[in-house]
Amino acid sequence: MIVLLMGAPGAGKGTQAELLAERLGYLKISTGDVLRSHIKNETEIGLLVKSIMAKGDLVSDQILMSILEQEFARAGSRDILLDGYPRNLGQARALEGTIKVPVRAAVHLDVPDEILISRLSGRRVCVSCASTFHISLLEIGRTEICGKCGGKLVQRPDDSEASVVHRLNVYNEQTAPMLERFKVTGSYRRVDGDGPTEVVFARIKEALQLVSA
Ligand code: AMP
Repeated sequence: MIVLLMGAPGAGKGTQAELLAERLGYLKISTGDVLRSHIKNETEIGLLVKSIMAKGDLVSDQILMSILEQEFARAGSRDILLDGYPRNLGQARALEGTIKVPVRAAVHLDVPDEILISRLSGRRVCVSCASTFHISLLEIGRTEICGKCGGKLVQRPDDSEASVVHRLNVYNEQTAPMLERFKVTGSYRRVDGDGPTEVVFARIKEALQLVSA
């Protein structure tokens, strides 16, 4: 069984996926994280996708399919939380036709555009532990040091202003229409993604309980 966590870049999918995995026991598969680890490790895939991701474009469906097959094989019989997939029609079809895992819920974290832009352009990520922070909440003079591990905080290449605008366009054109598919199958659940992390988490939990009831 699989739960999809969907929503625009900056909607908080990564943060909520972590919590869902930690507290509800899902095996989290975040396609963005897997791709970033390929870049970090300079694998063949990493070298292929680095510039595509920095611009905010989508990586090819073929690469995503090979990543998912590997990750799904690792999951065994565990319930999966998929963060960042499907992102276009080809991927939605692959999920239904090739991967054939039943989708229990497609949770749509819905956040207004102006909040998404502020979250993304102010986001800083620790190169060591991958924790994320917002620049407005960091102490003056300590905007480059991770409060959790002391690592260096940087801006993701795809969080630059030009890439953020492009990623939102890509989302609106290619990913948002996918939500309609899940409305038709009855697995769609809209969750208000604007609010403190714990409040949004409680909303997601409630939406998932309604699905399983
Ligand atoms: P994310 O961390 O989910 O915001 O993803 C960061 C970037 O990774 C995206 O802008 C894409 O370049 C790439 N990416 C992640 N997931 C996918 C996917 N399912 N299909 C294509 N590209 C993806």
